[in-house]
Amino acid sequence: MKFKLTILGSGGAIPTVQKKPTSQFLNVQERYFLIDCGEGTQIQLRKYACKFQKIDNIFISHLHGDHYLGLIGFLSSLNLLGRNRPINVYAPEKLKKILDVHQEVNGRSFDYEIVFHPLTFNDIALLYEDTLLKIFSFPVLHSVSTCGFLFKEKKRPRNLIKEKISQYKIPVSKLNSIKLGNDFIENEIVIKNSELTISPYKERSYAYCADTLYDEKILKYIKNVDLLYHEATFLSPMLNRAKSTKHSTAEQAALIAKKAMVDKLLIGHFSSRYKDIKLFESEAKNIFEPTVAVSDGDQFEIPLKQSNT
Ligand SMILES: [Zn+2]
Repeated sequence: MKFKLTILGSGGAIPTVQKKPTSQFLNVQERYFLIDCGEGTQIQLRKYACKFQKIDNIFISHLHGDHYLGLIGFLSSLNLLGRNRPINVYAPEKLKKILDVHQEVNGRSFDYEIVFHPLTFNDIALLYEDTLLKIFSFPVLHSVSTCGFLFKEKKRPRNLIKEKISQYKIPVSKLNSIKLGNDFIENEIVIKNSELTISPYKERSYAYCADTLYDEKILKYIKNVDLLYHEATFLSPMLNRAKSTKHSTAEQAALIAKKAMVDKLLIGHFSSRYKDIKLFESEAKNIFEPTVAVSDGDQFEIPLKQSNT
């Protein structure tokens, strides 16, 4: 029942020895997702023991090089490793051209299918759905068309209390209805659902916002998420530079987290001009205490919590 995020790259546009460009690996109950794919991502996936051959869905927020230049390398390695299962790529439409040109000049296509899903930038959009979770894109404000991504588990059914089910001899055919919250009714006998079940675990959620200006329009998409990643390229003294390059400061990321009432904030995408990322953390913590300035290799797990209903 994992919901675990691994930071593969926490740096800004220029890779350094300590910090690779943006990329994250997310495991939601053994579904594996790659979010952005900066240069060196495939090395980071190996370094941090991520199950990269099991990735079936890749999300690219925008087409600045530090968010996608690792993609062709990663896809090529999967090909060399004998992949034959299709892979889904959710990205701005022009990335398809780049992938096509690469395969053309390379003289042969990948042996597996790339199923390309162009992003839209008007409103929140459902990209992916299975029995356990939904994944959405939503527009953020940057110098090129850019999306954030929201990963949201579906509401779980209620948990049956086995002793009560056997005590009342509830037939198997009724169990699904009881898991959905209904009472057991038969021959004028009513057994309240609250006697037969306990509340399920709360659905967990993660929102990823990079790269973006400070923009309160995103609050409605990310409200109350358990975990928020928001870029923080600069510290407050460089607010004007943040604005002109369409990035955010640590303080602005914290303000967004506070207003969205999230449980925990991660900040990253730090400009390579800064050597001490703790400065980002302390600037953000003044506004929103549960903030972590991330480093490559950091892992964050969203724990299961019983819901109140
Ligand atoms: Zn960018």
